[in-house]
Amino acid sequence: MKDCRHDSSFRLLRFAFCAILALPTATMRLVADDPVALQRERMVSEQIESRGIRSPDVLPVMRATPRHLFVLADVRSMAYEDHPLPIGYGATISQPHVVALMTELLAPAKKHRVLEIGTGSGYQAAILGQLAAKVYTIEIVPELARTAARTLRELGYSNVTVRQGDGYKGWPEQAPFDRIMVTAAPPEVPATLIAQLSRGGRLVAPVGSTWDQELILIEKTADGTIRRTSAGAVSFVPMKPADK
Ligand code: SAH
Repeated sequence: MKDCRHDSSFRLLRFAFCAILALPTATMRLVADDPVALQRERMVSEQIESRGIRSPDVLPVMRATPRHLFVLADVRSMAYEDHPLPIGYGATISQPHVVALMTELLAPAKKHRVLEIGTGSGYQAAILGQLAAKVYTIEIVPELARTAARTLRELGYSNVTVRQGDGYKGWPEQAPFDRIMVTAAPPEVPATLIAQLSRGGRLVAPVGSTWDQELILIEKTADGTIRRTSAGAVSFVPMKPADK
């Protein structure tokens, strides 16, 4: 009769040996292909998953998007740290956790047309572009709009269109939108943007005074009723009125 006990312990040993060999090899391959992939992996597990973001759509996109290519060269080494970073002209790229949180709240899907207000670096638009059909994004500072459009084009996010302009007006030619994300803080959710939201749509915005805001989720139901909920305190650059 065959000695099954010996057979299974041999298989176990062989498995353990292969696993030990395979683990570092896989990690080394990851690092060789993309030297910052490990930093990104750590960013997702330590800053995002650990704070309760679970969306199977959002997490892989946060893992895949090269955040370091959206920030200025002199702060590139800090691109995956747990805080916002300056991107010039008084603007900041949000903390990774806040990007993930707002994206999860917005719940974009592949069939959606999305409007973003406050393109900044283009990073949030790139995240949304991977989850939606089409992203329209508006930036008031011409230099930021130009740089973001170039970064997005060079990295191949071809379903994102950047426009320089005033976000308070929205994008009437392309309205209505299934999803709207505002990434600069207005004192109140602009009525124009709520008007440009589809029925069944969701809008996420930081609302309040300078540096002291709450994250608001607006849901427009199928009959056009507006439901408003708060998702906690946040701190964004103020949304500038067009004439300032
Ligand atoms: N989403 C960006 C970060 C946004 S920071 C990213 O992923 O990098 C907020 C941005 O909103 C700034 O770039 C600021 O210039 C822009 N902004 C401020 N007021 C605006 C307005 N009225 N219309 C459009 N953009 C505005």
